[in-house]
Amino acid sequence: MEYITLNNGVKMPALGYGVYQVEPEECERCVLDAIEVGYRSIDTAQAYYNEEDVGAAIEKSGIDREDLFITTKVWISNAGEEKASASIDESLRKLRSDYIDLLLIHQPLGDYHGTYRAMEQALRNGKVRAIGVSNFYPDRLIDLCNSVEVIPAVNQVETHALMQQQEAHEIMKRFGVAHESWGPFAEGRKEFFTNPVLVALGAKYSKSAAQIALRFLIQSDVIVIPKSARKERMAENFDVFDFALSDEDIETVRALDEKESAFFSHYDPATVELLWSMAK
Ligand code: NDP
Repeated sequence: MEYITLNNGVKMPALGYGVYQVEPEECERCVLDAIEVGYRSIDTAQAYYNEEDVGAAIEKSGIDREDLFITTKVWISNAGEEKASASIDESLRKLRSDYIDLLLIHQPLGDYHGTYRAMEQALRNGKVRAIGVSNFYPDRLIDLCNSVEVIPAVNQVETHALMQQQEAHEIMKRFGVAHESWGPFAEGRKEFFTNPVLVALGAKYSKSAAQIALRFLIQSDVIVIPKSARKERMAENFDVFDFALSDEDIETVRALDEKESAFFSHYDPATVELLWSMAK
């Protein structure tokens, strides 16, 4: 496993396992499978309604807690200092853990400055090892970085071969914020897994399009947390540390960047309406 050293010295695996849209009844099995495959970093969120299943799997796995890296996220409905603080304790209870390795603000909506203060307090109290944000596009990230005591360790944003966030990456780098991808396969949208460039590079390196996509991000200093409910795909997605794309092939993938979301724009009023409707 390769690691990224966050801006507070905490080491985070460069590749983890994401559990968004993993059904609660499957989640414990999936996380146990992922741990068996070799994953040690698990990405969940209050809004995924499966923190309890992740917690149960952690306990059952028999792996020492310090060998795991657990991320969760504060949802919009828990925004604000008081509510966020209570929600952190609730997440700890569900995760059956004394601490969270990385705690993120899920969306830049509601009183997220209050949320962030609660997270800074949790950091001081040892309830979390690192704090950061998610879906903070450059405007919000720059604003936050200029108004907080603790610079976020991570910003988790949609990032894949078709939307690479190259400008945002440079801004994160300038502030010392590690770039983490969500949706490294664009969830298969835009015929991602049959993209001719990714498939051709896969043939060249005897790897799949999915593995090329992950390797490209890892070599671009982007942390990845692919999701699969299928153990054989978990293993495939984990098997990306025995090869390296050449500089030329990195440039070939770089050229796939459409600079456009495969999902939605956080600048679109309809997206903000939708996210708020999910918080109520
Ligand atoms: P991904 O881009 O990881 O794609 C997951 C999809 O790809 C699933 O349909 C899965 O199907 C399929 N898949 C996985 N591996 C392969 C493979 N090797 N070959 C073919 N198909 C494959 O999407 P996610 O949205 O799940 O993103 C990853 C993680 O990022 C999430 O689980 C979550 O932790 C995080 N996230 C965070 C967000 C945020 O707002 N902060 C938003 C969205 C995600 P199957 O399961 O059937 O294998």
